[in-house]
Amino acid sequence: IKPIVAVVGRPNVGKSTLVNRILGRREAVVQDQPGVTRDRVSYDANWNGREFVLVDTGGWMSDAQGMAAAIAEQAELAISLADAVLFVVDATVGTTDEDEAVVRVLRRSQKPVVLAANKVDDQRHEMMAATMWNLGLGEPFPVSALHGRGSGDLLDAVLNSI
Ligand code: GDP
Ligand code: MG
Repeated sequence: IKPIVAVVGRPNVGKSTLVNRILGRREAVVQDQPGVTRDRVSYDANWNGREFVLVDTGGWMSDAQGMAAAIAEQAELAISLADAVLFVVDATVGTTDEDEAVVRVLRRSQKPVVLAANKVDDQRHEMMAATMWNLGLGEPFPVSALHGRGSGDLLDAVLNSI
């Protein structure tokens, strides 16, 4: 049985872009507008000969007030079904209440978590990625899903966590 890796995080942090980067093909739908409703989608993936199932999450509608709760609820389901979690945050924005809501779910789940600080397209954003240590989830891996930066180290960490 292949291990399941769930990719979770609030809308627009680049989850689907990262999934496409990992798959090496464009299957996950990248949205320029956050909050478009879409189901969870599973993909067969492979890294250095290790097979796993990658689950892209996201796509829910909610009013601004209920957003953090809606994101946390969606994440909770995906996390409960996963063997490991790839938690994505946006290093160009920093930590938000919505990120914190997902972190609380992650803590409760006690599943292995690897933290990806995405949109580190250049050196300039590496400092921002480092501030993600404050989430208390261990080392933040700076990545650029758009350019492919850092995805190898990230995947090594994900598969080592299982
Ligand atoms: P999701 O809602 O978390 O699945 O995010 P998407 O993958 O749909 O991406 C949301 C937006 O962020 C899109 O406009 C992407 O092109 C952009 N994006 C994703 N990854 C990166 C990245 O590494 N760098 C930059 N600059 N933009 C990114
Ligand atoms: Mg998406």
